[in-house]
Amino acid sequence: MSALFLSVCLAAAADICATRLVPGACTQARAEAWVTARPDLTLRDWDCAPMAGRVTPLPMTEVAPGLFVFKGPHELATPENAGAHANIGFILGTDAVAVIDAGGSRQIGEQLYAAIRHRTDLPIGWLILTHMHPDHVLGASVFRDAGATVIGHARLPAALAARAEVYRDRAARDLGRELAIGSEIVRIDAVIEERETIDLGARPLLLEAHPVAHTDNDLTVFDMQSSTWWLSDLLFEEHLPSIDGSLMGWRSLMTELTTRPAAQVIPGHGGPVLPWPEGAAPMLGYFDGLITETRAAVARGESLSEALRHLGEGLEGDWALFDTFHPQNATAAYLELEWE
Ligand SMILES: [Zn+2]
Repeated sequence: MSALFLSVCLAAAADICATRLVPGACTQARAEAWVTARPDLTLRDWDCAPMAGRVTPLPMTEVAPGLFVFKGPHELATPENAGAHANIGFILGTDAVAVIDAGGSRQIGEQLYAAIRHRTDLPIGWLILTHMHPDHVLGASVFRDAGATVIGHARLPAALAARAEVYRDRAARDLGRELAIGSEIVRIDAVIEERETIDLGARPLLLEAHPVAHTDNDLTVFDMQSSTWWLSDLLFEEHLPSIDGSLMGWRSLMTELTTRPAAQVIPGHGGPVLPWPEGAAPMLGYFDGLITETRAAVARGESLSEALRHLGEGLEGDWALFDTFHPQNATAAYLELEWE
């Protein structure tokens, strides 16, 4: 399948350029419109070429018939991983494709798009964003270009608007300015207040918005056909969870979710598939240890800085990125439990 390829450069630094894949018709008007919508870029060249050989499809695992996941490595965003460090993927129906999360840069979104086109020519009906974090959303613009309806939690638009500038600056810092080209926050077309079903053609997906937990805008996707529940960052495995919402809210939400049946679940990091509810046990063990230790420190009258010296000492286990995420989790736990 052919696609439009643009060579674009930063208006402020003409030697910093990138090639971007834009799905759909190859015309000069489209090339110009894409760049006109981004005043920080200039168009150097465009051409029309087959995707094969130009864009490397992300390696996917088919965890249920027609349900594909890329498993992110347990890393932070770097130029080497190009922002591909969360689990992302897609589900095929008979009429359309739903993409679940878009990766941490435009390039990763393009590679996910190539992985889809490697398997089907069906339209991309939806891009479902499970929450605001950059490793899940910054590849979104390629799917908007492909015509997808972008869906998220009712609180997602405000959360992204508040962080757009920070996320853009962080992408340029962590990935480099070339990879940051086209890595952007997109408009959300439809929001989920509670729960809603979309149908990909003989394949209904239940989308559910949750109370404050990992973030204040966590959305899950249940594939009824395979009984696979895409929990995204409501569930971490191997990779230490990061609390950017509410520890107690997250703990109580998981208590409820673990009573519901599912054949298997897909975490945001780890897996890529886990048994349910057993797959939640290590994360809940970490939460419970953190809650117990924090309550004891507060009861002893320790200040935050005193508590941070020892909170979580026995909780490191085999968690990847413990030193990166535990200190902020401990701070969040203390501030939340201090006035309990
Ligand atoms: Zn997250």
